[in-house]
Amino acid sequence: MPRRGDPRKYAQQGVELTGYLALDSLPRLRAAVVDGEGKIHARLSFGISDEGKRVLDGRIEGCVNLICQRCLEPVEHEISSTIYVGIVWSEDQAKALPRSIDPWIVGEGQADFYDIVEEEVLLDLPQVAYHAEQCVPRERFSSESAEEVGAKGPRQNPFQVLEQLKGTPKK
Ligand SMILES: [Zn+2]
Repeated sequence: MPRRGDPRKYAQQGVELTGYLALDSLPRLRAAVVDGEGKIHARLSFGISDEGKRVLDGRIEGCVNLICQRCLEPVEHEISSTIYVGIVWSEDQAKALPRSIDPWIVGEGQADFYDIVEEEVLLDLPQVAYHAEQCVPRERFSSESAEEVGAKGPRQNPFQVLEQLKGTPKK
């Protein structure tokens, strides 16, 4: 999938872009997840809406690893996001859009498609993640501090330490 292109031209031509985006090419998302594991698939359809506006209609799917706030081990998070934005190049044009369409203000020329995909995925990431199953026995969880539980994990890294500082579980 190309990283950049002219979204206005694509809308006129009804271009559809699909493909996988490497996590390493999305630095802000990469910084928000545990490791480089996971994948992001995007389908971006450019076109003209019923109201005659240039729009981007997109669907993003994939998975990334977050930190489980209970056991501080990685937990897989499934990504399923949609994008529906009007392609405009000024604030005035953004205001002229129907209320149902959020503006995507692009400058002259080429826009960065990875950027809007990354933005949407980041918006949809949960604040805290947990394993679906009970990964830490309740009684152990309540009798030990988060630090002790975390120290038992084999994959101690600075990110996890930061998570411990930020997210001390409630007793
Ligand atoms: Zn867990």
